[in-house]
Amino acid sequence: MRARQKELAKWDEEAGANGRLRRACDEQAKVPSEDSMKYLITLIGAIFFFCRLDHVKFSWQPGLRSRKGPYGKTISRWIDGMWEKEVEIVMDPNDWHEEKRVRDHFSALMGTLLHECAHAFLDSFSCDGYCEADACRVSRTRVEGGSGHGSAWFRVVTYVEACANANMYGQWKLGLENGMWSEVWKEERVIGEEDIRLCHPRYQQYLRYKGREVIREWRSEMRVSRRVSRRVGRRVSRR
Ligand SMILES: [Zn+2]
Ligand SMILES: [Zn+2]
Repeated sequence: MRARQKELAKWDEEAGANGRLRRACDEQAKVPSEDSMKYLITLIGAIFFFCRLDHVKFSWQPGLRSRKGPYGKTISRWIDGMWEKEVEIVMDPNDWHEEKRVRDHFSALMGTLLHECAHAFLDSFSCDGYCEADACRVSRTRVEGGSGHGSAWFRVVTYVEACANANMYGQWKLGLENGMWSEVWKEERVIGEEDIRLCHPRYQQYLRYKGREVIREWRSEMRVSRRVSRRVGRRVSRR
């Protein structure tokens, strides 16, 4: 994947080492305005997604993460009779860089933004079962994923993260592990070997290892939560 030079230069002006938006965030703890985020989405669209993110809206939602929610989310819905979708990215502006283990607030925000842009791109052009074709229904859980973190998302995001780390200033973490966790809670599965082989080569070993770890932890959490619910059940029945 080769990023486009002109848009990369514009990205650098805003979000590079001395970028306007990065400096405002580092020095004055100011997050970019919603319009600036929308501009960054357009640049990301041009760099990675064939200029296909211009329709995506953006808004900040303070407290999204602290209410046990995600760092960001992508909301999409069909526009009636238009074969088109309305797509919006919503993100928590608060500083979660320590929890995300990246070096600063701005890097954390940009990692989340790229994560969501991959959703926005895939959501914009996937059918969500509208076609009602059997083949589509059969592959949907695997490819789109119940939480949006199916094989398509991993294929896109591993290439985008590798390319961002090579070409864009910053420490890029697009939340591969979080994606796995969302999918395991929703569909009780992680990305399988045949799909891992289609991801960026640098991430394949990581995905195999993480997949096994996530499944192991998930199973033990399931056992704990079943024990807890049995105990709670007994207490309630005694009353
Ligand atoms: Zn379909
Ligand atoms: Zn996600």
